[in-house]
Amino acid sequence: MKAIKSKVTKTEEEWKKTLSPEEYHVLREKGTEPAFSGKLLKNKKKGTYVCAGCGNPLFSSETKFDSGTGWPSFWSPVSEDSVEEKVDNRFGMHRTEVTCKRCGGHLGHIFDDSPTPTGQRYCMNSLSLKFREKG
Ligand code: FE
Repeated sequence: MKAIKSKVTKTEEEWKKTLSPEEYHVLREKGTEPAFSGKLLKNKKKGTYVCAGCGNPLFSSETKFDSGTGWPSFWSPVSEDSVEEKVDNRFGMHRTEVTCKRCGGHLGHIFDDSPTPTGQRYCMNSLSLKFREKG
């Protein structure tokens, strides 16, 4: 699956109507779900993880790995049009935020500490993702 290039823009009121309160908090208010709470953490099925806000394909099950952190972790997005990276200095930490390139929704953060082919760990919230099983 390839990323969708058309952008999605909605008002906060529109987002509130289409997202659950929990999804809204993570995607639109940059919240973080509690570690080990996410429904997709242990999902090992084959398929594609898309943005819970706009359906943009973000990650393949083939790049998912168990990081032990309590959040679904991937070592690469499906394409360069899937995600955007932004500096995030909130809470006295220097992190890189990952957002959906199509709708701007907050997905999680990226770290470069993983023993994977890219060395990268896309640390995602389950609440920001929906899983589309292959086939
Ligand atoms: Fe999106």
